[in-house]
Amino acid sequence: MDDPREILTDCLRGIAETLRHHRDLGAREITLSHHPFPDPDDVLREQERALQGCTRCKLCRSRTTIAFGSGSGRARLMVIGEGPGEEEDRQAKPFVGRAGQLLTKMLASVGFDRERDCYIANVVKCRPEKNRNPEPDEVAACNPFLRAQLDTIQPLVILALGNFAAQTLLGTKEGISKLRGKAYEYQSAILVPSFHPAFLLRNPGQEYKRMAWEDLKLARREYDRLTNASSPAVTGSIGS
Ligand code: URA
Repeated sequence: MDDPREILTDCLRGIAETLRHHRDLGAREITLSHHPFPDPDDVLREQERALQGCTRCKLCRSRTTIAFGSGSGRARLMVIGEGPGEEEDRQAKPFVGRAGQLLTKMLASVGFDRERDCYIANVVKCRPEKNRNPEPDEVAACNPFLRAQLDTIQPLVILALGNFAAQTLLGTKEGISKLRGKAYEYQSAILVPSFHPAFLLRNPGQEYKRMAWEDLKLARREYDRLTNASSPAVTGSIGS
């Protein structure tokens, strides 16, 4: 039986029979043993708890804390970076150092509050020593946790910052300069790649800032389209 309608009819018939059987036995209500729609913030907290003490890759030797993620589990925008730096490792929270402060301003410039409207995470949750690039085995070891965060939040829009986030999610080796400027379908979300704020800090030229600003506005437009929200004030620059 391959016809999905037949499969569904069969399932519904089974459920109806079971309910009738319970009714005939005198049941007047059915109590569920767990909440069918758990609070995403609780789920994320549980995922974070389960990750404590992780030794799945060698980054466990260079980290002091695990910077799992921050923001709202009900956010419709998920921001994904590369990996924690020194300050993030100290505070166990992504994007709280200099690049994080710039990111906060960038998000605010298109009307997003990072705690209320966003959930922010990284491809790897532990700091690579001396902020080196994460290695493929480290990205692979952390990938189930990024997937779990995505599955829990089910964002409508993903802002992928820098090569690692964009390449990992889109499954490509193409560089961020080529990838940015466009919106991509990513599962049930729209993914907008852009420059990493740390790159913008290293390259303060107006040209890169202008491109990042275009990407942010694209992410905002996609967000408004998918949430039917009207765009709050766009401030006109991403600051420095
Ligand atoms: N860079 C990142 O990619 N993530 C952070 O959390 C901080 C800096």
